[in-house]
Amino acid sequence: MTTPDASPSVTLDLGEDYPEVREGVRRICADFPGSYWRELDAREAYPSEFVTAMTEAGYLAALIPEEYGGAGLPLRAAGVVLEEIHASGGNAGATHAQMYTMGTVLRHGSEAQKARYLPKIAAGELRLQAFGVTEPTSGTDTTKLKTRAVRDGDEYVINGQKIWTSRALYSDLMLLLARTTPLADGMRPVDGLSVFLVDMRAALERGMTIRPIKAMINHNTTEVFFDDLRIPAEALIGDEGRGLRYIMDGMNAERILVSHESLGDATWFVRTATKYANERVVFDRPIGQNQGIQFPIAKAYAQAQAADLMVRKAAALFQAGQPCGEFANLSKLLSAEAAWEAAEACMQTHGGFAYAREYDVERKWREARVQRTAPISTNLILSYVAQHVLGLPRSY
Ligand SMILES: Cc1cc2nc3c(=O)[nH]c(=O)nc-3n(C[C@H](O)[C@H](O)[C@H](O)COP(=O)(O)OP(=O)(O)OC[C@H]3O[C@@H](n4cnc5c(N)ncnc54)[C@H](O)[C@@H]3O)c2cc1C
Repeated sequence: MTTPDASPSVTLDLGEDYPEVREGVRRICADFPGSYWRELDAREAYPSEFVTAMTEAGYLAALIPEEYGGAGLPLRAAGVVLEEIHASGGNAGATHAQMYTMGTVLRHGSEAQKARYLPKIAAGELRLQAFGVTEPTSGTDTTKLKTRAVRDGDEYVINGQKIWTSRALYSDLMLLLARTTPLADGMRPVDGLSVFLVDMRAALERGMTIRPIKAMINHNTTEVFFDDLRIPAEALIGDEGRGLRYIMDGMNAERILVSHESLGDATWFVRTATKYANERVVFDRPIGQNQGIQFPIAKAYAQAQAADLMVRKAAALFQAGQPCGEFANLSKLLSAEAAWEAAEACMQTHGGFAYAREYDVERKWREARVQRTAPISTNLILSYVAQHVLGLPRSY
């Protein structure tokens, strides 16, 4: 299919599947079965043991260059790590954040910041898992966020509030987006926002308060309040006023990574539904013999296979340093939708037993749903495609 814009020219090598990475992650995940995630879900607890195992095996440092103690792997290899976690029945929330949040420091941090933080993040001595962008009143309209950072000598004073800051209670560092220059007439809204690497250990009880949110899924998500929090000026990443550009710069990588999670979910749902449909006998035959049961599973499988090709294309373009915004967005859209189709098929196939926690189907169904909302909602992706790919009028 041709796209309205000239297709970027890159020879796509869809062959590299990182079987050794897949196998290594599967081996670790085998020690963390559904009962582990179920129990955490019930307690709304953080997967400390899993994160430790993944860190020790080096997977959390997949994208950190070797010179800073990481594995320096391509984006697709990191995506494969996340995909396998989800395909095993687990959840990569506590694993993915570090992978892409770290990218902002890597691309825009000073040499001193990189040397100070990246080796410790790679070694698991420091956790960079909190990403403070979303705010309660501005939502997706990030340029309207209200958290302020005001320079005062060699410090910044932070005031404001973030919402849905996942893992804030389990992270040592937070990447924080705040406005340093108030929006004024004639100013581009994307300007005047700055990004900071906040040492949360130093900030707690000194102007930063964290309050957990009771949520539908166990993402250890929170509200974070800043009340005259003072941070050193050296916490600023890159240039003042360019923070939103830095964050946006990492969004293609983030979209490709989380697409892999949806692919993993789709794999889990299709496999789990197929197994149950073959085993469950009603009216003297396996329910999977009924086309009403077969077709939704087969359709979800087809959608997941198609999404997989798109994710590979986006990752290949990203790795080749070519424009990949369109394909990263399409990957996110198609993989989230495929996972949701598969989740619904799996729920329906399991009948009443889908609601029994011990089957893990309802937990995975709840978890898969979030990809249609976060980190970017389906509507906003469709807006991007309509405006930037198809050339339709800007809608907001
Ligand atoms: C479990 C979870 C974890 C999260 N973790 C983090 C995190 O760690 N850090 C962080 O910063 N954020 C995080 N988020 C926030 C997440 O990125 C936002 O919820 C998401 O971007 C949507 O923003 P919103 O909730 O403010 O929705 P809103 O912006 O209020 O939008 C509400 C609905 O309206 C639609 N909409 C809005 N404007 C338009 C438009 N112009 N055209 C069409 N439709 C429109 C949206 O698509 C959406 O469906 C998390 C959210 C969840 C649920």
